[in-house]
Amino acid sequence: MTKIQINSERLFSFISDMAQIGGLHNGGCNRQALTDEDRIGRALFLKWCHAIGGVSRLDSMGNLFVRFEGKDPTLLPILMGSHLDTQPAGGKFDGVYGVLAALEVMSTLHDQQQQLSNPVEIVVWSNEEGSRFSPAMSGSGVFSGQLTQSDIYGSLDDEGISYFDALVSSGQLGSESCQAFPFYAALELHIEQGPILEAEQKNIGIVTGVQGMNWYQITVTGETTHAGPTPMSMRKDPVQGLMTLLPQLYAKVAEYGEQARITIGKLTTIPSSTNTVPEHVIFSLDLRHPNQQILNAMSDDVLALCQTLPPVLSSSIDVLWQSPAIEFDARCIDVIKTASHDLQMDVMPIVSGAGHDSVYLSSLGPTGMIFVPCKDGISHNEKEHVEPEHLVSGTNVLLHSLMLLVKHKEV
Ligand SMILES: [Zn+2]
Repeated sequence: MTKIQINSERLFSFISDMAQIGGLHNGGCNRQALTDEDRIGRALFLKWCHAIGGVSRLDSMGNLFVRFEGKDPTLLPILMGSHLDTQPAGGKFDGVYGVLAALEVMSTLHDQQQQLSNPVEIVVWSNEEGSRFSPAMSGSGVFSGQLTQSDIYGSLDDEGISYFDALVSSGQLGSESCQAFPFYAALELHIEQGPILEAEQKNIGIVTGVQGMNWYQITVTGETTHAGPTPMSMRKDPVQGLMTLLPQLYAKVAEYGEQARITIGKLTTIPSSTNTVPEHVIFSLDLRHPNQQILNAMSDDVLALCQTLPPVLSSSIDVLWQSPAIEFDARCIDVIKTASHDLQMDVMPIVSGAGHDSVYLSSLGPTGMIFVPCKDGISHNEKEHVEPEHLVSGTNVLLHSLMLLVKHKEV
């Protein structure tokens, strides 16, 4: 028996029509959260949903839910979704693909006159990108109870407009209070935003989890002196300390294997003067690993090294931010794996290096993610590109994962 396939042409037209809204010259999109473009994009999406019987509602954070009733409305819904907001010069696939693929899945089921036993809700999470209002993933964060609505309401954009005022002016303030409800499972399809699937020539990544991240700021302190008169041997130069410290930090992280990451993205001296030995070197430290215990052990080791400086120098450590490692639900992973094998996809397990709404969702119920490759791993960029065949493969895997999830009730 041939398996049901999604309608590729319709999927492509959903994506290209949505990309017109906030469309930029180089093929990207500027459709930031709670703007006019966001409102218009959501209205277009809703028009498509309503045409196939979806019933929509908005919550008090601007999260949009579109429900497709199941044969048994008393069963818990299955959530499928992602986000429609973009970076200021973003691509047309990041997040958008996950939402429109979910719509294509429901459209295919509608074509086939198939009603699943469970209700399905397509979710458009509000302000995933965080480019206009900080922090990112605020819609799903409040939904999961891990962020506070009143804090987010007060978040200001660069023009001093609050999240709350933008919710009202963009018509996205819903009457329903933003809070978690039980769901049977949640699936998110997304572009990888990294180079691994393309390099490995796989068309589907089965996301096993999301890396944990620990962010620190390290300050190495010496003493300011004149660059000329002070002999090298008599200096308390924090840059010299850094010179011996950095190779040790990279070597230590390498001991933790291929999945460990260290990034020093910010590095400054104080005072910043050409002819002065600085008093301080301040640098950021971003450490990542998919296993929380390993991340913690690695962080302890790295921070211990930061404290073993020559006696003329001292150091201090500030914890900036920590995001725990997430492992996705074993059954969701299994279902995605089975659907991919049934469709003869080239698959590999993969860990997400970027944050997603599904991180928050996974604290509430069984959650899984599917990745497709994007060209050169480029995202958050107008050049973001996904091959049409991968768009189709991912959407078919989403369709069949959804059907497998409810299968034991169907037959
Ligand atoms: Zn995204």
